[in-house]
Amino acid sequence: MAMVDVTVRGAGIFGLSIAWTCARRGARVQVIDPFGPGAEASGGLVGALAPHVPENWNAKKAFQFDSLILAEGFWADVEQTGGLSAGYGRTGRLQPIADDRALELARAREATAAELWQGKARWQVRPRLELGPWAPPSATGYVIHDTLTARMHPRRACAALAAALAARGVEITPEGADRGTVIHATGVAGLEELTAHFGKVVGGAVKGQGALLRFDAGPEAPQIFADTVHIVPHADGTLAIGSTSEREFDDARSTDAQLDAVIERALAAMPVLHGAAVIERWAGLRPRTKSRAPMLGAHPLYPGQYIANGGFKIGFGMAPKVAEVLADLVLEGRDTIPQEFRPEASL
Ligand SMILES: Cc1cc2nc3c(=O)[nH]c(=O)nc-3n(C[C@H](O)[C@H](O)[C@H](O)COP(=O)(O)OP(=O)(O)OC[C@H]3O[C@@H](n4cnc5c(N)ncnc54)[C@H](O)[C@@H]3O)c2cc1C
Repeated sequence: MAMVDVTVRGAGIFGLSIAWTCARRGARVQVIDPFGPGAEASGGLVGALAPHVPENWNAKKAFQFDSLILAEGFWADVEQTGGLSAGYGRTGRLQPIADDRALELARAREATAAELWQGKARWQVRPRLELGPWAPPSATGYVIHDTLTARMHPRRACAALAAALAARGVEITPEGADRGTVIHATGVAGLEELTAHFGKVVGGAVKGQGALLRFDAGPEAPQIFADTVHIVPHADGTLAIGSTSEREFDDARSTDAQLDAVIERALAAMPVLHGAAVIERWAGLRPRTKSRAPMLGAHPLYPGQYIANGGFKIGFGMAPKVAEVLADLVLEGRDTIPQEFRPEASL
C-alpha cells in the first residue's frame, strides 16, 4: 500500500480509534483537537461494553457484535504499544430477572444467543446462588449471565490510545492544517454543524450523568445491569454507576438530583454498595444522530472528506469496528458500511 496521509479531526474515542487503526495499517496520521484527547463525551467514567439483546438481528446488532469481539485484541494491542492500561476486561454481566414473564423471555434468548453469537459468547439463565456473593438479589432467584459484555475505563482508554499513537509517532495537536484525507470525528459539535446547515435536526446532544464510587469488587467481577442502571466494577478498585439520559438540559457539565436518583437505584439493586464513597460525579453530552445509529461515510458538507459520528450511548463499544470500516474505506477504497449507518439515514 502506498503511504497515505490522514488527518483526523476530533480526539474522542471515535477519532482516536480511527487514527490508531489507520496508523497500524501504515498510514501517516495526525490528529487535531483544540481540547485534546477525551475532552468531551469520551472523557467519562462508565465504560460498559454491553451487547444488544440477542434477538431480532439486524445490521446494527451485527456490527456491534463484531465490534465487541474485536475489542479484546484491539485494546490488548493499544495497551501493549503505549504501555498504559485502558481498563479493558471481558468480565461479563449479570442481570436480575424480576418475574416469570422475564424469566421465560430470558430463556428464549438463551437459544437465540447460541445461534446469533456463533459460539463466541454465552447468554445463560442461571440460579443466582451459583454465582457467589457479587450476584445481584433477584426476585425469581435467577439472573442472566452473559460472557460477551466487557468493561473499560473511558478516560483511561483515551489516554491509552493517545500513548499508543505517540509510540507510533502520531501527533495530537490543538490546531493545524489538513493533510491528506480528512475524517471528522467531532461528536456533538459535528452534528450541530449539520443541523445548522440543513436547517432541520440531523443530530444533537443527549446529556448523561454518571458517578464513580470507591468500591473494589475484584478484578473479575462482572458488571450488573439492573433497573436500567449500569453498575461497572473497574480494574482499579473503583466502580462506576450510570447513567441519566436527558434530552432537555440547561448546563452540559453539571450533575444534580437526577444522578442522585440513579445512584439510589443502584444501591437498591446492589445493597452491598451501601456506604461506598462517591468519589466523582461527571456529566457529558452523547452525540446522537436523528436515526440513532452511527453516522459513517462521506461527509455531507465537505466533498472528498469523511465523517464518523453518532456513537450515542455505545460509542466505546462500537469504536473498534467503526475504526475498521473507516480505515477500509479511506485507505483501501473498500466500503463495508451498513446502509443504516450512512449519513443519508439522518438527513
Ligand atoms: C454519562 C455517559 C455515559 C456513557 N456510557 C457509555 C458506556 O457505558 N459505554 C459506551 O460504549 N458509551 C458510553 N457513552 C457514550 C460514549 O461516551 C460516546 O458515544 C462517545 O464518547 C462518543 O465519542 P466521539 O469520539 O464520537 O465524541 P466525543 O468524545 O465527544 O469527541 C469529539 C471530539 O471532537 C473535538 N472537536 C469538536 N469540534 C472540533 C473541531 N472543529 N476540530 C477538531 N476537534 C473538534 C472535541 O473536543 C472532542 O474531543 C456514555 C456517554 C455519557 C455521556
